[in-house]
Amino acid sequence: MSQLKLVTRQVGPWGMNTYALICSDSKQSILIDPGDDPETLQEMLGDSQPIAILLTHTHVDHIGALAEMREALSVPVMGNDGPHEPGGKDIQADRWLRDGDTVMVGEHTLRAVYTPGHIGDQICFVLEDDHRVIVGDTIFDGGPGRTWSSDGFKTTLETLRNVVLPWPDDTVCYPGHGPHFRLGDRRSQIEAFLAKDHGDFFGDATWDM
Ligand SMILES: [Zn+2]
Repeated sequence: MSQLKLVTRQVGPWGMNTYALICSDSKQSILIDPGDDPETLQEMLGDSQPIAILLTHTHVDHIGALAEMREALSVPVMGNDGPHEPGGKDIQADRWLRDGDTVMVGEHTLRAVYTPGHIGDQICFVLEDDHRVIVGDTIFDGGPGRTWSSDGFKTTLETLRNVVLPWPDDTVCYPGHGPHFRLGDRRSQIEAFLAKDHGDFFGDATWDM
């Protein structure tokens, strides 16, 4: 069984990373976060057979082309039913993915992992038997996902501590914005960030603050 092929394109005014996962054995594919530019999204899928659209969360930069792609592909839409707050959109999913739920692409398994903080419906997609995770806006190369309240920020800290840091060093995180990175290369910075008292902070955070 060969590895899932991962295709990345930046779409929309915020340069959001859309991902396609393609199984070269079965030709099945999955589109993650249809943010904008349906033509580019179609091109990413090539001649594969899409079986689902997955959402890491419901902020507009991640779902801007959802309606068009849902119609074009006629496949089920799957996301998390946590509060679409702050700033998310109410969506009609065909299947709600909760922590631990899995989606098959050919013989490959994606596992949803709930990672709230940036928004209440944030999930990651862990590629089982692989070292890659599609993390959405959970974590970036340069810092944790943006937050809009100190409660949201504190939830982000818990998610980093309890969900993200336990992943192995070899995990490669593919975020919603910016470059992918190896978790082991950021671990000491994340740990130092978590060890500091950030008071009532919220907003855009970087590891060195
Ligand atoms: Zn977001």
